[in-house]
Amino acid sequence: MEREAPGGQAGQSAAIENYLGFPKGLSGSDLTQRAMAQVTRFGAELVLAQNVAGFEARGPVHAVLFDGSGEIEARSLIVATGVAYRRLEATGLDELNGRGVYYGVDASEASQCEGDDVYIVGAANSAGQAALNLSRFARRVVLVVRAGALDATMSQYLVQRITSSPVIEVRYRSEIVEARGDGHLESLTIADRDSSGTEEVSTSWLFVFIGASPRTGWLGPGVVRDRLGFVVTGPDLLAPAHAGCWPLARAPLALETSVPGVFAAGDVRLDSMKRVASAVGEGAMSVYLVHRYLATI
Ligand SMILES: Cc1cc2nc3c(=O)[nH]c(=O)nc-3n(C[C@H](O)[C@H](O)[C@H](O)COP(=O)(O)OP(=O)(O)OC[C@H]3O[C@@H](n4cnc5c(N)ncnc54)[C@H](O)[C@@H]3O)c2cc1C
Repeated sequence: MEREAPGGQAGQSAAIENYLGFPKGLSGSDLTQRAMAQVTRFGAELVLAQNVAGFEARGPVHAVLFDGSGEIEARSLIVATGVAYRRLEATGLDELNGRGVYYGVDASEASQCEGDDVYIVGAANSAGQAALNLSRFARRVVLVVRAGALDATMSQYLVQRITSSPVIEVRYRSEIVEARGDGHLESLTIADRDSSGTEEVSTSWLFVFIGASPRTGWLGPGVVRDRLGFVVTGPDLLAPAHAGCWPLARAPLALETSVPGVFAAGDVRLDSMKRVASAVGEGAMSVYLVHRYLATI
């Protein structure tokens, strides 16, 4: 079940270079198309453009409830709803969301920036990859970073490529405090965190990569999560912090949640790796675990 289009976050990536089997990398849309062809060949049924809004544990059966009306019952369920981007707090930014201000970036937006100055907020790998991707089209890419260095938050290969790029500039110890524009982004005000001085720069493009929170509100209180909302699975459920949450005498299976028969895979899971390879691996693992679970009931 998918509420938007297949592909998730990976589908938005212009170049995935660290997925096994693709030594030259591939785009997220290419990976999505290949995955869809494979999934269809295996006979999976896809329910698209359908938002799952609720979950109910009904004894041995679990139900996912759609927005409005409709539901699907199943004996087992894999939660793979990923994460949603965190919002950047700055005056005027929300009004320009989708009008020059974007959370995440796909290839179509990147090519629209041809010859322009582009600003990116973030210091993790997704921001670094976006900077490299946009530098192929933009006149100048400015990475706005709150910290004084990138090494602690970004892979070394990305840091090297960014710092050696003639097109990419990194503004350390800086943050965006205001966005202006009449119908579309026209300028940003950047504050220096040390001097508190500000500078207004002209630009039509801002891409934000400042982390994400899990999409788990629809699960209701039944499935245990940490304070940020990430789903707790497997042996972590037996930790003192979650004492009494696991209802059975047997131990939970590796990716099983606090509701027996409900599994979590990918970015939505507490302590997940936030990578395509690990999300795909956990998805495959969950299917195996579903079979093990079904053999117990
Ligand atoms: C721009 C970008 C570039 C990246 N580049 C790389 C890279 O090069 N290499 C790498 O390894 N990783 C990369 N990542 C990270 C990688 O994409 C993620 O780790 C991976 O996609 C996680 O997959 P997932 O299935 O757990 O979740 P997601 O990809 O977040 O997918 C979750 C899906 O669930 C759907 N959904 C959510 N809630 C509901 C609901 N209530 N009802 C119905 N559907 C719902 C969403 O629409 C979404 O399609 C990148 C991420 C981004 C954003």
